[in-house]
Amino acid sequence: MVSVERSVTDTDIESLRGEFRGELLRPGDDGYDDARRVWNSMIQKYPALIARCTGTADVIAAVSFAREHDLFLAVRGGGHNVAGIAVCDEGVVIDLSRMRGISVDPGRRVVRVQAGANWGDLDHETQVHGLIVPGGVVSTTGVAGFTLSGGMSATRRKWGMTCDHLISAEIVTATGEVLTASESSHPDLFWALKGGGGNFGVVTEFEFALRSLGPQVYLAAPIYSLGDAGEIVRQWRTFMENAPDEISSDLIFWSMPPLPGVDESVVGSPIVILAAWYAGPVGDGERALQPLREFGTPLADLSHAGRYVDIQSSFDVFFPDTQRYYWKSLFVDSLTDETIDRVIGFAAERPSLQSLMVLRALGGEIARVPEAATAYGNRSAGYNLSFDTTWQDEETDEQMVSWTRNAWLAMRDLTGGGVYLNFAGLGEDGQTLVRAAYGENYERLVRVKRQYDPGNLFRGNVNIEP
Ligand SMILES: Cc1cc2nc3c(=O)[nH]c(=O)nc-3n(C[C@H](O)[C@H](O)[C@H](O)COP(=O)(O)OP(=O)(O)OC[C@H]3O[C@@H](n4cnc5c(N)ncnc54)[C@H](O)[C@@H]3O)c2cc1C
Repeated sequence: MVSVERSVTDTDIESLRGEFRGELLRPGDDGYDDARRVWNSMIQKYPALIARCTGTADVIAAVSFAREHDLFLAVRGGGHNVAGIAVCDEGVVIDLSRMRGISVDPGRRVVRVQAGANWGDLDHETQVHGLIVPGGVVSTTGVAGFTLSGGMSATRRKWGMTCDHLISAEIVTATGEVLTASESSHPDLFWALKGGGGNFGVVTEFEFALRSLGPQVYLAAPIYSLGDAGEIVRQWRTFMENAPDEISSDLIFWSMPPLPGVDESVVGSPIVILAAWYAGPVGDGERALQPLREFGTPLADLSHAGRYVDIQSSFDVFFPDTQRYYWKSLFVDSLTDETIDRVIGFAAERPSLQSLMVLRALGGEIARVPEAATAYGNRSAGYNLSFDTTWQDEETDEQMVSWTRNAWLAMRDLTGGGVYLNFAGLGEDGQTLVRAAYGENYERLVRVKRQYDPGNLFRGNVNIEP
């Protein structure tokens, strides 16, 4: 283990302990090494202090401690961000992983969820009532980071971005004050929380509006050979241009996984999965999605009806916290033939078998919300393309990152140039990235940042500089 200087003294910790109920972990303590790890195993950081909070009072104590001791601060929701910004070297990590309380009010169709919960936790509780908050398709992803940067769910075309479901948020600001942000209370801050990331404070609890879906839903997932993709993707484009909002769909360019019933000879070969979710009754979904299964001759077909909670976690197994990840994305205004051919070309050259590229169809309810209504920008884009490079061998880090950056730069010249901050590489593009993500909303975000965090205490994120 790298040795970390104890930049926080025993006396400092004793004074914090008086106000703090949760765990305080420092280098060398039992549990420190587990607590500093995040989902991307490429990230190895060594904070001076990990403050595992049990509630809002602990968060206030930890924020005040970091401010008073002039320590760098990172905030950990689910710890899934690929850039590893949930942790930091030397400074303080406010770790919310013990704060996972969820309370569903089915009568009012709202849910309150603490900010350390992940999507598996939330789906588990809301599905008791046949309700959902449109959220992540990998169940271990944190609700907090996902929502604060927008949130693209499997029902996004029907119900919009996840942040569009926020009714209110409780937040601890840089001064240690607790505020409730909503349409009627601190409306500017509320606007900024819908896409502006972790720039304004530590959100301790979210209140979301719920939608009716489940317990059974239908997923279509025919798998075609990449060799047929030119024709298949063009058919998918036409299908999605005419699709009802109930259908949200991703093209997943990948390598054939070793699935039951799949011929061994095709395992590892390049494929495209036409994943499509239906936000409505199973029978309607099966009928509406049938054409996707008939675009050609699939190598395999994983289409099925299943429990919402199972379908929402069916990709978990492919994304363990033992792999190395570098993910970047772009918004694509419209899918021209040239764009399709370039995407397929890069898919054929993916630098490792585990790496994927995902082309997500957007539109529907996402695009009906005016661009300036939330901090999240790029609402008019037709698609989002992500390069989800994934590998195991540390020695290939440089090769993997450089392949991804080159592919991303080449595609950026062909697309609108907007980026989605939930897949932001290692954040190395700095302010260029931030401006490309927020577009016309950027200046207003700076004004809100100046009001709530003029000293930039919350800068361990995709930072909006005050
Ligand atoms: C396997 C996988 C699948 C994914 N699928 C999708 C997908 O389908 N759609 C999509 O849109 N995104 C997806 N993502 C991206 C995901 O939304 C981001 O990685 C997101 O940051 C994860 O949230 P988290 O709470 O786990 O993040 P963390 O790593 O815990 O935090 C990331 C940042 O969010 C901020 N933050 C977190 N919690 C708080 C808080 N309580 N208060 C203030 N700021 C906070 C902080 O700035 C922090 O640095 C996926 C990621 C992975 C790894």
